[in-house]
Amino acid sequence: MSEVVLENDKKDIKSLSLTELTEELNNLGEKAFRAKQIYQWMHEKLARSYDEMTNISKALKEKLEANFVYTSLNMVTFQESKIDGTRKYLFELADGNVVESVWMKYKHGNSVCISSQVGCRMGCRFCASTLDGLERNLLPGEMLDQIYYIARHTGERVSNIVVMGTGEPMDNYDNLISFIRMLSDEHGLNISQRNITVSTCGIVPRIRQLAEEDLQITLALSLHATTDEKRRKLMPIAYTYGLAEVLDACKYYFDKTGRRLTFEYSLVRGVNDTEEDSKELIDLVGHLNCHVNLIPVNPIEERDYKESTAQAIKAFQSRLEKNHINVTVRREMGRDIDGACGQLRRRHKKEM
Ligand code: SAH
Repeated sequence: MSEVVLENDKKDIKSLSLTELTEELNNLGEKAFRAKQIYQWMHEKLARSYDEMTNISKALKEKLEANFVYTSLNMVTFQESKIDGTRKYLFELADGNVVESVWMKYKHGNSVCISSQVGCRMGCRFCASTLDGLERNLLPGEMLDQIYYIARHTGERVSNIVVMGTGEPMDNYDNLISFIRMLSDEHGLNISQRNITVSTCGIVPRIRQLAEEDLQITLALSLHATTDEKRRKLMPIAYTYGLAEVLDACKYYFDKTGRRLTFEYSLVRGVNDTEEDSKELIDLVGHLNCHVNLIPVNPIEERDYKESTAQAIKAFQSRLEKNHINVTVRREMGRDIDGACGQLRRRHKKEM
């Protein structure tokens, strides 16, 4: 278990698996069924504090209070799109940091996009989340909290989770894995692992490690360019891990899990959206069992990147299709509310 010990040596109770919680309570002289009850309050009934746990005695609540931290989020703002019902939430954590999460409604179910870190240290050039660097990792419980808050707030069932908000999930690996196991646990929200997607900029050893975890989640790789040279201009991580080894790691993930790969490709005008780029992309991934997600870049004011023209996007897409590559252009959800990942949080920080 990693990093669940907070200041004053208290553990975050919501970051403990049922087995860990049972052990902790056992050490405090409590029976296993109590752990189950408390776990159920936190992860099925989505209680926001011990107060809501009606079948737990006052004495035990006090004991829990004395031994653990119970995190819960405060909503700073939320915006709802009039176009498609997308909601963007800005949450305040116990230490005053803020993170954003997104709720999206699709025909096949409701999706929540969560943040995995406060800020990010990966430095991708077009991304707003990384401009101020990394503040800290999120605990498993704080990743769950984003989903729990939204599930309560909307009153609707959440069926898909994408870890595509602020942060590089593979840079917070152990907490990410605990989070996924708890999220898909039958004693929690019990979300199918097949409906969980983790997006990474391509930290090779972690992709290989993930392949060994015996999970059925979808791996999404942020590719964004077809040569090392071009990729390095957009993503500093490409200096550490070259395309060949990143793609090898992705193939390894597929071989181990049988899960179809997703490649994300943000289209930037004149940078990676030419005919040559599309041909190189076809050569690079055309033979893999994969899905390509084209994302028209969402321009941030700190950089001079522009969205590809509608024509270039269409042409790029159809060249991939002609080569039998499964491709979608990411529908821009909530176009009428704050744009790209990390921009809501950034605006809030600037206003403070
Ligand atoms: N750290 C993870 C998650 C990032 S957000 C990763 O790198 O994959 C999810 C996707 O959105 C990534 O592919 C990321 O590169 C992309 N992205 C970030 N900011 C963007 C922007 N302004 N426009 C288009 N895509 C963006």
